[in-house]
Amino acid sequence: MRQPRSRTILVTGGAGFIGSHLCEALLALGHRVICLDDFETGSPANLAAVAGHPRFSLIEHDVARPLPSGLRPEIICNLACPASPVHYQRDPVHTLKTSVMGALHLLELARATGARILQASTSEVYGDPELHPQAEGYWGNVNPIGPRACYDEGKRAAETLFFDFHRQHGVAIKVARIFNTYGPRMHPEDGRIVSNFVVQALRGEPLTVHGDGRQTRSFCHVDDMVRALIALMESEPGITGPINLGNPEELEVIEVARRVLALTGSASPIVFRPLPVDDPRRRRPSIERARTLLGWQPRVGLEDGLARTVAHFAERLRPAAPAPAR
Ligand code: NAD
Ligand code: UDP
Repeated sequence: MRQPRSRTILVTGGAGFIGSHLCEALLALGHRVICLDDFETGSPANLAAVAGHPRFSLIEHDVARPLPSGLRPEIICNLACPASPVHYQRDPVHTLKTSVMGALHLLELARATGARILQASTSEVYGDPELHPQAEGYWGNVNPIGPRACYDEGKRAAETLFFDFHRQHGVAIKVARIFNTYGPRMHPEDGRIVSNFVVQALRGEPLTVHGDGRQTRSFCHVDDMVRALIALMESEPGITGPINLGNPEELEVIEVARRVLALTGSASPIVFRPLPVDDPRRRRPSIERARTLLGWQPRVGLEDGLARTVAHFAERLRPAAPAPAR
């Protein structure tokens, strides 16, 4: 494959779950990576593999605040935003500021420098969808005043800003609508389904299924997601998106619990907890656009991906060996 030209790429949210994998992949392709993150949900530990790399640098900064001067990226990937309901609902006003003010600051930077800019949007723009599977032409069904709105509406407003900067100022944009993504480096306490179930199973704690567990999600392995984001980033200028990125393999939540129990061999029971307010009933991407425009489709099946994630968390949760006696 032809190696792309080496570029300076600003990755906001680069210390998070998806962002840290993206930074690594971009460095491996020969790019210079500037990670900008305020560590709200990310961590320096996620950057351990890239920290000393000569083409990597880190800026600790909140995107909701005016950006530091002197940034001259050729490409911007905006991933800065807490992604798990537990995290984004902790300070909802700041979540909204992160999405809206963050997008505004980064789009202004893109306009000033001529950088291409990619937005990590979300399947949450479809809310609790009436159309199934969800295609990009669907406008969504979002409760604008519920507890998820700070995230959903923040991301929707960010998309609006992206398309207005594109139409009004000619900024080169790429908008990815990311569906549920899982894999190594998910925060073990972030409340998301895969990390929760795997950690609970490994610790022998009950698996907490919300509602009756009949709601569905479609899960994409982070390696596939990073490949998709890079394909979109490198795509020709006419491709602005929005473009769904995800794995259409759809599962009921209760089935995810069963699979995790089978894979870990855990004897943990399944317990049922109240369904969170506005929890979407179904979610599955139509990925026809990604297939035809990017030539991308997921390669990692759920069984394989879950097994890899279980192995990762088993290693991470293993108690440190006692120091050798002197
Ligand atoms: P994450 O919480 O692991 O990573 C988010 C990163 O952004 C963290 O490093 C965090 O510290 C940083 N951040 C948050 N607010 C910031 C701010 N104001 N300024 C600077 N940095 C800030 O989440 P993730 O799962 O890696 O998600 C990355 C992006 O992808 C997010 O924008 C999220 O909305 C989007 N996304 C993720 C999923 C998913 O399933 N993981 C699904 C849809 C969309
Ligand atoms: N969920 C669950 N138990 C958990 C965590 C999540 O049953 O311990 C459910 C959650 O209510 C939702 C689905 O799993 O129906 C996916 O939740 P997650 O927070 O991972 O992502 P999102 O709701 O943003 O799609």
